[in-house]
Amino acid sequence: MGEQVTTKKITSRSLTVTIRNIVIVSTLLMTVFIASLISIHEYLIFRDTARQQQEMYFKEHKSFIRDLIDIEVEYIVSQRRFFDERITQRVRENVYNAHSLAEKIYLEYGSHYDEKTLKKLIVDAVSAIKTPSPYMDVFINDLEGTGIYYPGKPDYSGKDLLEHTDMHGNSVVQRELDVLSVGDEGYVRYGEDDQLILEDTLPENKVVFVKKLEALNWYFGSKTYLEDYYDTFRNEIARKISGDHFRYGGYVFVNETDGTPIVMDGEVYKGDFNFLDGSDPDKMAVFEQELELTMASPEGDYLLYDWIKVGTGQKIPKISFVRLVPECNWFVGGGFFLDEILSEISHQKEKLRNELIKNLAILFLVLLMIVFVQLLVVYRFNANFLADYSNFTRFFQTGKHHYKTIEAGQLYFDEFRSMGEVANEMIHERQRVHRELVQEQKKAEESDRLKTAFLANMSHEIRTPMNAILGFSSLLNELELTEEEKRNYLRLIEKNGEVLLQLISDIMDISKIESDQLKVNPEEFLLHELLEEELWNYTELAAHLENKDIQFKLENNLPENYKIRTDKLRLKQVLDNLIGNAFKFTQAGSVVLRVNKRASWVHFSIQDTGIGISADDIDQIFKRFTQARTHAQKNYGGTGLGLAISKRIVHLLGGDIGVKSIPGKGSDFYFYIPESLRGK
Ligand code: ADP
Repeated sequence: MGEQVTTKKITSRSLTVTIRNIVIVSTLLMTVFIASLISIHEYLIFRDTARQQQEMYFKEHKSFIRDLIDIEVEYIVSQRRFFDERITQRVRENVYNAHSLAEKIYLEYGSHYDEKTLKKLIVDAVSAIKTPSPYMDVFINDLEGTGIYYPGKPDYSGKDLLEHTDMHGNSVVQRELDVLSVGDEGYVRYGEDDQLILEDTLPENKVVFVKKLEALNWYFGSKTYLEDYYDTFRNEIARKISGDHFRYGGYVFVNETDGTPIVMDGEVYKGDFNFLDGSDPDKMAVFEQELELTMASPEGDYLLYDWIKVGTGQKIPKISFVRLVPECNWFVGGGFFLDEILSEISHQKEKLRNELIKNLAILFLVLLMIVFVQLLVVYRFNANFLADYSNFTRFFQTGKHHYKTIEAGQLYFDEFRSMGEVANEMIHERQRVHRELVQEQKKAEESDRLKTAFLANMSHEIRTPMNAILGFSSLLNELELTEEEKRNYLRLIEKNGEVLLQLISDIMDISKIESDQLKVNPEEFLLHELLEEELWNYTELAAHLENKDIQFKLENNLPENYKIRTDKLRLKQVLDNLIGNAFKFTQAGSVVLRVNKRASWVHFSIQDTGIGISADDIDQIFKRFTQARTHAQKNYGGTGLGLAISKRIVHLLGGDIGVKSIPGKGSDFYFYIPESLRGK
């Protein structure tokens, strides 16, 4: 009525699936993260290595060509010296030959011929000497500077040559005489700049060797122009250097500083191209750069430029090292084309990259395996989790109706196991409570049944004395009763009244017991007196019994002055109860009350020779409202309260009660209480 039904969409979620998904996702994320981290790291290493390798390649190769060019320069310089020496040696040899020949002739024929003939003989002999070049042919002057013999120049003979200068204005003969004024022989050298240059400095273009023969007052000389041999030297060097090829299309090139190529593109250059003639502006530009660089740094330097690579016809970037050879006015260079080194570098880079890919592949494989193992672990966990979980589900399903426990020991996880143990404790507790409830219910039902029976019994027990009282009371009204009869009726009315009173006091006692209000009042008294009182009462009762033949006996084994401290009235109540029952359930024989003392306990026993109690009933009779079933049919009367009250009283007096009985033979009710009850 008026209730609002709200529907909420519930998404079904499985715990194990969620855990599995979380683990899978986090594992994958972790894996990807680690993989990227390592990949980036590996890539950075790769990049650095590649760069270092490239730099190393360039550095190594650059220093290689530098070393090579330095060696070439050294070689050229040393060759140049060697070549010059060879040439200057040759002029000296020429002079020596002529000199020794002249000396020989002089010594041999000096005494035979006159001076003029002798001189003519010597001139003829010297002019006949063959030299490698007519230019080197030996000339003769006298030591005063007069020409004696000049090959190809007859007009110099007899001419004073002291003032003679060559085409460059050098006073040639004077210089030669200057040299001879300090020694027998010597070189006269002329520099390219037409100035006399100092000895041992290169370059020089003209060398003269002179030696005097003092006997004749002559000197002999031979001269040579070194540039006459320059081509030979150049070709020799060019041939040698053109053979030097090295890696990456590398070769050595040699140019004259005036733009003439000596070795070009790795070959001896034979054409008439000149870098500076403007026919190839690109090459000219490169040449000018090289020239500028070599002039600026005598140690040589590197240059990057484009050059046509032999065999390809294409212009390709090239790094060269160029260095000046000042001794020849050349510069030498050597370089390598970048395409090859770059392709080698990229080849190396490719190798590195492959290595990188391989490493990454291994990494991924390892990570994949880790993921796989992790998944296996997760699935295993899930399986165990699910097994435990479904165990619990089953447990709860059956636990709804049954007290079935869960097998905690079989559970995989500790948490589930302890949960299982707690659940089992719960089940056991529920089971115990249930059992108690059932028992309580049975008790309640039994109690109910007993109460009903008690009520039925009670009404009978009340009605019987009531009827007697009312009946005898009405009989008393009849007039023709004798005094004897009246006394009898009154006695019967009194007796039935007592029965009723007893009944009522029993009911009051039991209700006090039920509400826990029954109290005891201990006092000290002579037990003997109480027992004598009982003896007197029951002997009297026995004597007046109709239809029964019972003897009452007292067996008191305690001294007469024995004092007991207990509730006297309650003790008497118990004794009366038990003795009353003994009389009630005995037809003939005896009822014996025995009293003994054991340690500090006083022991009472009421033994009869009555009908006895069956073993089945013995457990029941001390319960309230119960009577022995075997006796019930015979209707002995009674409420079934006496023994229950007695038992309770004995307990309150600090003792206990029991019975031994043989059906048909008799019963022995006994109880014992402490001789001194504490309290009040
Ligand atoms: P009741 O008022 O019925 O006697 P009690 O509690 O005194 O109630 O006794 C309970 C029952 O125990 C009796 O009904 C009887 O069956 C049995 N009983 C008690 N005393 C004796 C006895 N001396 N001999 C045989 N049965 C006895």
